[in-house]
Amino acid sequence: MPDPHLSEIRDVEPSADGCEDCLKIGGEWLHLRLCLSCGHVGCCDSSPHKHARQHFHRTKPPIIQSFEPGEDWRGCFVDEAEV
Ligand SMILES: [Zn+2]
Ligand SMILES: [Zn+2]
Ligand SMILES: [Zn+2]
Repeated sequence: MPDPHLSEIRDVEPSADGCEDCLKIGGEWLHLRLCLSCGHVGCCDSSPHKHARQHFHRTKPPIIQSFEPGEDWRGCFVDEAEV
């Protein structure tokens, strides 16, 4: 069955070239994740601040896409799966 959250995907423009929250606080990130509902760029769960996950807790739409060059997988925070 397709992930039900796929319906929350919008046509988004990435908000920044790096994790926008890390850029504000001078933090560092490991990998980048793009929110497919609003275009927020945040850092992954292996990064110190986990901003992509924090963004999900604030705004709820759970579908993210890898924002790393050459990667285009998508994942769902709720289902903890690739979608
Ligand atoms: Zn889902
Ligand atoms: Zn970050
Ligand atoms: Zn978002």
